Amino acid sequence: MQFLEFARICEQLEGISGRLDMIEQVSAVLPRLDDEELPIFVRFIMGRVFPDWSPRKLGVGPNLLYDAVAYVVGTKRETVREAINATGDAGIAVEGLLAKKEQTSFFIQELDLIEVYRELERMAAAGGQRSQREKLRVAQGLFGNARPLEGRYLARLMLEELRIGMGEGSVRDAVARAFDLDVRLVEHAHQAMNDLGEVALLARRDPASLSCVTIEPFRPVKMMLAQAGTVAGQLGDHGEVAVEYKYDGSRFQFHKVGDICRIYSRRLEEVTESLPDIASHLAEATGHDVILDGEAVAVRDGRPMPFQYVIRRFRRKHQVDSMMEKIELVPRVFDILYLDGETLMDRPLSERRTILEEVLGAHVAEQFRVDNAAGAEAIYTEALNLGHEGVMVKVLDSPYTPGVRGRLWVKVKPGVETLDLAVVGAEWGEGRRAKMFGSFLLAVQDQGRLLPVGKVATGITDETLADLYSLFKDKVIARSGKEVTLEPDVVFEVGYSEIQTSPNYESGYALRFPRFVQVREDKSVDEAETLDSLAERYGQQKNGQGSGSLPA
Ligand code: AMP
Repeated sequence: MQFLEFARICEQLEGISGRLDMIEQVSAVLPRLDDEELPIFVRFIMGRVFPDWSPRKLGVGPNLLYDAVAYVVGTKRETVREAINATGDAGIAVEGLLAKKEQTSFFIQELDLIEVYRELERMAAAGGQRSQREKLRVAQGLFGNARPLEGRYLARLMLEELRIGMGEGSVRDAVARAFDLDVRLVEHAHQAMNDLGEVALLARRDPASLSCVTIEPFRPVKMMLAQAGTVAGQLGDHGEVAVEYKYDGSRFQFHKVGDICRIYSRRLEEVTESLPDIASHLAEATGHDVILDGEAVAVRDGRPMPFQYVIRRFRRKHQVDSMMEKIELVPRVFDILYLDGETLMDRPLSERRTILEEVLGAHVAEQFRVDNAAGAEAIYTEALNLGHEGVMVKVLDSPYTPGVRGRLWVKVKPGVETLDLAVVGAEWGEGRRAKMFGSFLLAVQDQGRLLPVGKVATGITDETLADLYSLFKDKVIARSGKEVTLEPDVVFEVGYSEIQTSPNYESGYALRFPRFVQVREDKSVDEAETLDSLAERYGQQKNGQGSGSLPA
């Protein structure tokens, strides 16, 4: 497939607002792609370049993009920046700039989809001191051969935000439809393989094998997630449940085959080198090949330390030893997904738990079986007394569902409700904060789009504002007056007093009294609150049900 055709498909999809129509269009394209193109197309159409399990990153920021485009159209970086500021969209601006250049250039080489992918692979592979130069060279080559429309989508692909509204769910449905399969089968295979591209290929070549796909060591799967809820609700629905402490640490997934151990963060980045203590604790505790799910917690004098201590260690790449002396991390393992070649995700939690206790000699998180409210209340109080965040209530016969935030796991913790929101823009501050961003525009996700729900400026100390400025200064895509558009890459946890409907923001909602709590460094933007769950919280609030309050 020519890249131009891919760009035309994107343009067409951008003009369609109905999800079903979009699914139909994409499903019509998939069968005519060859085996090499199919997985690439499937990832590209979601705005992704590599499989979700892959640690590879393009590492292209807005500045590199400006420089590459400036070189190709023969202008200055500032001109490109201004064009992007004027449109508020890197894709449209690049398209416009390339259109002007097209009138004067004679020769371009057709780009095809596979070639673009290979070039992006080269970009990701560029490492070391000269990496920026190498990435720039590849980007120049691509833009140099791109027609204006191709430029629009190349720019957006490099920023990994295609803005056409094809989210993972829609692409999954398109794959099922294209190859006439049950969508649950596709979803299940996707959960285990963590790459819709490869799932699409299997769906065409060998659909029967989709039902028995396995989790592969060293290809991390997405973490199973929890919804806020109450113990009473879970007891009412299930009779008996498993209750565990909710540790205030950072999630990890541990993979071990023989002597090789690797640890992945919640964002599925490899963090083995930062966490040698967790790796050795777990390697010593089992001789089996395993994939384990757990929480890394920081401990001092037997009491848990707050999350910030843990995340500092996850980030740490240098002087890990001296940091280890200061902050000791210990694993609390609560699930097992793989044992000696066998995938366990479809076994019920109760069975996985028994296996976990058999194969892991230490570090298994405590679990209590509870069938009455008084018992649950006692564990909840105990959890808080021990310094934990609250409890997790899990359904005993539930499978492990990677990436799903369902009601099979429910988190119960006291205190104010918070939302995890994507930061998509900012506004320059005033007075002594004039050289920093003073407020931040926040968004929920909906089918691959990010829709604003409000701004936050309260709750941020001057010191944090300075840190946030360093975090965001290279992520500015466009400027307009005092406002900037940011590459969406950071998640804020934000408190609020109420969710309101509002015509002022694209999401249709606004937050009353938003308050900054912290940067969720462990979360990526695709883990931000969804529009659907925001609407659900709004509904619960209207019905007077607090959703994460004390166990009733
Ligand atoms: P939240 O980040 O508020 O959505 O809460 C879910 C997170 O709690 C998980 O992603 C884990 O990192 C963490 N957690 C702590 N203890 C447990 C536990 N026993 N079971 C599952 N998750 C836990």
